[in-house]
Amino acid sequence: MPAPAPITITPIFVADLLAGGKRMPVYAHVIDHPDARVLVDTGIKELHPAAADLDPRIRPLSTQDFDVGAVDIVVNTHLHFDHCGENHLFAGKPIYVQRRELEDARADGYTIPEWVDAPGVTYEALDGEHELLPGLRLVPAPGHSDGMQVVVVETGRRPIVVGGDVAVWFGELDEPSTEGQLLVRALEPELVWLTHEHEPWRPPTV
Ligand SMILES: [Zn+2]
Repeated sequence: MPAPAPITITPIFVADLLAGGKRMPVYAHVIDHPDARVLVDTGIKELHPAAADLDPRIRPLSTQDFDVGAVDIVVNTHLHFDHCGENHLFAGKPIYVQRRELEDARADGYTIPEWVDAPGVTYEALDGEHELLPGLRLVPAPGHSDGMQVVVVETGRRPIVVGGDVAVWFGELDEPSTEGQLLVRALEPELVWLTHEHEPWRPPTV
């Protein structure tokens, strides 16, 4: 029997932001699964007054050589503005988010609400863990936000995690403190892709 096609993960640079005096990248991630192409988070749509103090320099997916039509499924790790800005491109496609996150995002001051509920955008609201595709699970990982989730990719060896902002920088996984960070470490992942780091985090070698 041929070996199953591997699942591949590709980071896509969509912006950088000024945080603490430094430029911090923003990535979306494409997961190519044999059954579907999954996009995890969607970046920033446009410059917006609500985000002006972070001085975004943006490369929206809609302006890149990126085949929007080839995406079958979208996952939002959470709905802060730098993760859901281009959800509008995926109207009519399933967008998976935790229900708790969606409710928080619709409250005042949480995000840019018109980017969440853009015309035609519909959500698959989850109440906990969900097997999206064989070997690909969505797992609640609260901390950075209460409704945060991560994508866990089974590889046959140690899992790979697409973690969004479960950790904003490597130090938060080196010394985990939130429920979500502790959960990710307990998975003993091979590596963890994060939204705001250029390279994946890897566990320290002893
Ligand atoms: Zn965030």
